[in-house]
Amino acid sequence: TTSLGELDPELAEAMAGELGRQRNTLEMIASENFVPRAVLQAQGSVLTNKYAEGYPGRRYYGGCEFVDQAEELARSRAKEVFGAKYANVQPHSGAQANAAVLMSLATPGEKIMGLSLAHGGHLTHGMALNFSGKLYEVAAYEVDPETMQIDMDAVREQAIAEKPAVIIAGWSAYPRQQDFAKFREIADEVGAKLWVDMAHFAGLVAAGLHPSPVPYADVVSTTVHKTLGGPRSGMILTNDLDLFKKINSAVFPGQQGGPLMHAVAAKAIAMKIAGSADFAERQKRTVSGAQIIAERLTQSDCKEAGVDVLTGGTDVHLVLADLRNSALDGQQAEDLLHSVGITVNRNAVPFDPRPPMVTSGLRIGTPALATRGFDDDDFREVADIIATALVAGDKADVAALNARVTALAQAKPLYDGLEDWKLLG
Ligand code: PLP
Repeated sequence: TTSLGELDPELAEAMAGELGRQRNTLEMIASENFVPRAVLQAQGSVLTNKYAEGYPGRRYYGGCEFVDQAEELARSRAKEVFGAKYANVQPHSGAQANAAVLMSLATPGEKIMGLSLAHGGHLTHGMALNFSGKLYEVAAYEVDPETMQIDMDAVREQAIAEKPAVIIAGWSAYPRQQDFAKFREIADEVGAKLWVDMAHFAGLVAAGLHPSPVPYADVVSTTVHKTLGGPRSGMILTNDLDLFKKINSAVFPGQQGGPLMHAVAAKAIAMKIAGSADFAERQKRTVSGAQIIAERLTQSDCKEAGVDVLTGGTDVHLVLADLRNSALDGQQAEDLLHSVGITVNRNAVPFDPRPPMVTSGLRIGTPALATRGFDDDDFREVADIIATALVAGDKADVAALNARVTALAQAKPLYDGLEDWKLLG
């Protein structure tokens, strides 16, 4: 009966501080979102107590009748939202989902071919220090140096030369849609499996604003906490029964022990919401907000200050600001926006002349603010605050910009009614 605040006031203070930070600043990290209260409730629920190794109806523990219901709801809703025949909803995270995917598609030592980390790929797509780069041979493809976009003819040539066992489409920092039909064609031509990691854009796929990889890929993995706006976790989809069996065994017992049933329940809630009209409307505001920011960052004052946008715009929920010609490097730009009350992350641009800890880019995402209720007018104000700060650099009027941020944050209250974290759940 002792509350967290009573039991552990030091931790309670840190958690209350984080709630305040989320409320009072503008969260624009492209991989983040705000979960609804129902997801907080599921994650803070007694389902965290339950061991349920195995799958619904086939558990290695007794007493699983109710968590079976929760997992079935998560699975069936995920299949419906994405039009897939099979779903595994147990991965604790995106990285663990991806480890299971690779385990089921290729034997260690075989070759994988994904977008290079430096050009927007993810660690789990073959980065040297990640399990994927250590266990598999890696042939990464890159973006075209002129267009900064993936050139499918170059991918095809490379695939023919390298003959990978697995081709990976999907990314962590890329502002355009990928051509899944073409990836399928190439995979078939070279006898590779096609794995799409839609972690970033899964919410757009669910809303019909982005082509779905499900009809084309052998396997699709995703996180649930980015554009999808659910609990921090992963999920795997496929239409192939044999592969589904391999994936199930790669998740448990291959990668994980007991599933986090409170997170699985929260995934069921996220999938219920992802099928709603409100969710689709929010994803529209997400993409529109990113396009408004891209447009503002390509205006003449930005160009004159050496601030630009990679590929000239965006089709998705994020914008990659290109600071190669700016006096500000990625680190300085991230710090400046932080002082103004906007949270973004610095990000290497392809062929980045600056070192990876500094970078020449910013990744600016709109999912969290769209969830907070931001519309086009709000995003125009956000875009102008960002542009004004980046153009002014170290001469920026931080106090004035911060006042504009505060006005936006106050106009769209977050987690209203949860006066402090102690009331959560
Ligand atoms: N896949 C992609 C494309 C990602 O961008 C990320 C997260 O950044 C992941 C997988 C990994 O997800 P997690 O952080 O949950 O392990």
